[in-house]
This record gives sequence, structure tokens and C-alpha cells, in this order.
Amino acid sequence: MNLKNETEAQIVFISEKVKSLHSKFFDFCENIGEKVLNPFERKNGHRLPSEEMLEYKKSVKTLWRESGRKILSTAATALAIIAMCTVVNLLGWSLGYEVIVDGENIGMVTDKAVVDDAICETRDEIKIYLGDASYSKEPVFVRRIVDEKTLSTKDDLKRALLSNVDMMVEAYGVYIDGKLALGVSSADAAEWVFANYKKKFAGEEIAEDMSVDFCEKIDVKKEFLHIALLNTPEEALESLSGNTKELTSYTVEDNDSLWSIAKKYDTTVEHILAMNDEITENIKAGMVIKVEEAVPLLSVRTVQTVSLVEPVPYTVEKIKDDSLYEGRTEVKQSGVDGSAKILARVTKINGKEVQKDVLESETLSSPVTQIEKIGTKKRPATTGSGTFISPTFGTLSSRYGGRWGRQHTGIDIAGSYNSAIKAADGGKVIFAGWMSGYGNYVVIDHENGYQTGYGHCASLTVSEGDRVAKGDIIAKMGNTGRSTGTHLHFEVKKNGEFVNPLKYVGY
Ligand SMILES: [Zn+2]
Repeated sequence: MNLKNETEAQIVFISEKVKSLHSKFFDFCENIGEKVLNPFERKNGHRLPSEEMLEYKKSVKTLWRESGRKILSTAATALAIIAMCTVVNLLGWSLGYEVIVDGENIGMVTDKAVVDDAICETRDEIKIYLGDASYSKEPVFVRRIVDEKTLSTKDDLKRALLSNVDMMVEAYGVYIDGKLALGVSSADAAEWVFANYKKKFAGEEIAEDMSVDFCEKIDVKKEFLHIALLNTPEEALESLSGNTKELTSYTVEDNDSLWSIAKKYDTTVEHILAMNDEITENIKAGMVIKVEEAVPLLSVRTVQTVSLVEPVPYTVEKIKDDSLYEGRTEVKQSGVDGSAKILARVTKINGKEVQKDVLESETLSSPVTQIEKIGTKKRPATTGSGTFISPTFGTLSSRYGGRWGRQHTGIDIAGSYNSAIKAADGGKVIFAGWMSGYGNYVVIDHENGYQTGYGHCASLTVSEGDRVAKGDIIAKMGNTGRSTGTHLHFEVKKNGEFVNPLKYVGY
């Protein structure tokens, strides 16, 4: 704007001075051009009149001869102009052009090529927003005497051209690691956005001893941007916080529900279900599901030295004990965490701690070591070892679980009549006799939380109270009780509850 006004003022100033001479001069020397401004050329150290100047003089002579006084006055005018032009030249003025595009003055130049460059670069800049063929401009050049101090640079011309393009506005582009992220209307708006973004993670009142900076390189450039890239400061703040989503996986924790996970990732239960074909709302701890996590465009790093009281974890000492059976452990002394007052430099990124350097540490209470006894005593064969062998030969004829609307408490193994049934593990026989439905039935307590049961036997070879070793024959296979065909009904109880025997034995 200023440039345009100043240039116009210059033109008015000059044209006031030369009003009467101006038009005559241009008519007359249109063909002679700028050389009139520099009437002498240097050759071999001598100032010689240029060819154009000689031609000019010759034409003045001819005109003088032909038209007498009338021409004299014209020639005098011309010479006066030459004198004036020399003065103009000495004052730093020269012949140039006013550049007009779409009827608007966009600047003053002496070199038309600068205008072509500016138009070319303008086209390249707006191409990404408005398409390739969207910009074709033909400049109009009007001869003017111009002050060299007010000549337009290529950038001046570009700015003037861009300001006339629809949908392009002069604004401030925010660049993150060299990539344009968004635009705001002023440098102040950009500062407001950065300051408030930092506060999100560093707190409303940033502590004096806390250093806060961005992990990414930030640049703000004043430039022409497409209007669609412009944001209010509030929109910009929102946009920087996480406008891209990245696929990640989440391991379900105890007490999680799809609803709580949806809340954590700012999404909906429906969206999570849509992304995970294989899951239902009934999720269990340990399951891994796909989720989308908002990824902030900008990350804030805070570093602060803080004083904390932290637990000091106890250590565990294991001692061998020959009064305990092998495989068993007992806590002789429970461990207790100690505590320490520490001074640490804590680095956080977007509020998440990423590093903690302990600068000083003072013990407040020492931890108490946990002492565990590890059993080394040889286990008699007639105690439970914790593992099971298959109790008999045969084929699996019925599985554990739902069957004809009832719960099947064990598995059925079909085999030949009177074949041996063995104790799946060592233990004490706590039932051996007839039981309704089971027929001849044996139950062994392995004294480690497990019990095994053997039903429909043809006959029994143990009695209640007997101790048996793993693999001892305890019965013969039969078809007693509620049974169709010769088979063993084998069941396993863990802490009083039936469990699937196939978790322990293979068939
Ligand atoms: Zn059965």
C-alpha cells in the first residue's frame, strides 16, 4: 500500500515539474529509448556521443532546416529534456514502468523480467491450493520516470499479486519441524496458542524452576495462505493437541470395561467393537485390543527438580528347609518396603514422565528383607506332586462341561471291561464305595488343593483311609451306576470346584 502511494506521489511530483515537456519528450524519443538518458558512451577512455545521440542530433538538424523557428523551439525543448533527464538521472531517477495487473497498480520496475519472475513464483505458490491452471496474468507496462529508491522488489510484487488472489490471505503460518501445520491471523495469536499449549502440560502457573519447551522445531512465517488453513487461536490450540489418530494396541486390565477404554481413548464402544471383529463386550484382563490414540502434533517437554518420598522395595532371601516337602515354599518373614526422600530431576513429555535422574537420596526407613523357606524334603510317593498321569487306557467319549442341558463334572474314557484304573497322583483315599449315580466310586485327596474322582468302576482295590502313590491301581473299569457302556468317569476338583480334567491329562 505504502509503496503504491509513495510511487504515485513521486509520479505526481515529477509530472508537476515536467508537465509541459513530458508528453512531447516521450512522443519524440519513443524510438530512441533509454539511450537518451545516457547520451554519451565511453570508448577508449573518451566520452563519445552514442549512435542514437548522433542520430538524434542529425534529426534535429534536419528538422531545423525544414521547419525553422518552430523546430528550433522543439529542439530547444528536447535539449531541455535531455538536460532534465541528466539531472533526473543524477538524482537517482530513471525511466521505468508502472506495472498494472487486472487494472491494479502492483508496483514500479525498471526491469520487466522481475515481473515475469514474480508472476511465475506466485503461480507456483498458489498451485497447491488452487490448482495448476488457476493463474494466468498478463501484466501491462506503462512508461514512467521512477525514483530508484521506490522500485518494487520481486517479493513486493508477489505480495501485491497474492493480495489480489481470491481465497488467499496474508496470515501467519505455523510450521512444525518444517511442515506447515496451520495458519493464524497474527503473530500475537500464534504466541497465545503456544503459551496456552504449554500451560496444558506445565500448569496454569508455570513454576519458576521449571523449564518448558517444545520437542519439535517451531517456526512462524508471515505469508499468504489459503483461507481454509486459517484457525481461530482456540481452534489452533485444539488442532495441535491431537488431530491425527494412530493405531495402537491396548492390553485389557482388571476392572476395565469397553466403556472405560472408550472413555480413555476419547471414542465410543461401537467404534472399538467395529475395529475389533473378534471381541464382544465381555472382555477379560490380558486381552489385547486395537484402539486409536490421538497423537499431538506438538509435544511439550518440562524439566523440574522435585523432592519426593519414594518406597524402597524389599529384597527376597530364599533359604533351603529340609522340613518342607520339595516344591513347597513358606514365608518365614514378610518383606516390608522402606522409604527414602529423594531429590530428582524429572523430565516429562506431554505430562508423562520419561526420565527421572536422582540427584540426592536420604533413607527415611530401611526395607525389611523377605525370607522364604524352600522345601528340600523328599516327597513320599503317597503325597500329591501337583501333576497328574492319565488314569487309564481308552478313548475320550464325553467331554467336561455342558451336555444335554446338564453340567458334566468330568470326562468319560471308554475302554475295556476290568482294565486297570490308576491313581492320577499320590494322596489319601477319602471315599471308596457305592455312590448314587457314580456306582463304585473312589475319591483321592492329593492334599494340595486337588482331589480326583473315579466312577462307574467294576470293582475297587483300595479302601477309605489308604494312602496311594501315583500310578497305584485303585480300581477296575466297569459300567456301574448311571452308565451306558463300559467307561471311567474321571473328575478333578481344585479347591472344592470341578475343573476340566483335560487341563491336566491328555486324551
Ligand atoms: Zn461321566
